[in-house]
Amino acid sequence: MRIDIITVLPELIQSPFNHSIVKRATEKGLVEIQTHNLRQFATDKHKSVDDYTFGGGAGMVMKIEPVFHAIESLKAQRQYDEIIYTSPDGKLFNQGVANELSTYKNLIILCGHYKGVDQRIRDHLITREISIGDYVLSGGELAAAVITDAIVRLIPGVISDETSALTDSFQDGLLAPPVYTRPEDFNSWKVPKVLLSGNFKEIEKWRFEKSKERTRLLRPGLLDENAD
Ligand code: SAH
Repeated sequence: MRIDIITVLPELIQSPFNHSIVKRATEKGLVEIQTHNLRQFATDKHKSVDDYTFGGGAGMVMKIEPVFHAIESLKAQRQYDEIIYTSPDGKLFNQGVANELSTYKNLIILCGHYKGVDQRIRDHLITREISIGDYVLSGGELAAAVITDAIVRLIPGVISDETSALTDSFQDGLLAPPVYTRPEDFNSWKVPKVLLSGNFKEIEKWRFEKSKERTRLLRPGLLDENAD
């Protein structure tokens, strides 16, 4: 899989990809993440990527030409499954969307800044708009990092224990059960006995019950969503 990220602040998103699971995935050759500095595609001599809003009003808007050239130059090299724009008014990102995107081969993620991008970019160049939550960030970089991380860990072979990603919260419409590690007893706070029993059938049953209990308590809406 290949993910191309177009941004005015490439340095801002290098770090999350240089650690832990995403780093290992890159090293194993399972994913290639490339960041592209939008300024390289600016067409005027000042290398400007933003301009004043037509009609007046506060805030700058990202210009269409640099974004157009950036996307065109990538599209000339390979075919993209989706060209994503990160936006607070996009469709809310969730595990289902992450699962879907993880099956694709080539993705572009465009990070917005300032007041956002010229609407014609969204109308003509973008195939999907994703929000990571109902709040406004200063730029799309953190959103792109969140989306990329959530996708990459789902690519087969990235997480060594194949079942691990599948047992995470949301995968089966339920939150994950609680987990424990040594010591068995800390300050008289004990690990549930069943987990020490070695009886895997009982452990599985307990985990499933706890998943349902937590979901009912913390996210009852998930149960309704999966009822139909
Ligand atoms: N004026 C815009 C917000 C611009 S914020 C509005 O009110 O909708 C600047 C950029 O940050 C956006 O273009 C977008 O790329 C990114 N961004 C901000 N909040 C985001 C969110 N919740 N999810 C994804 N991207 C977001």
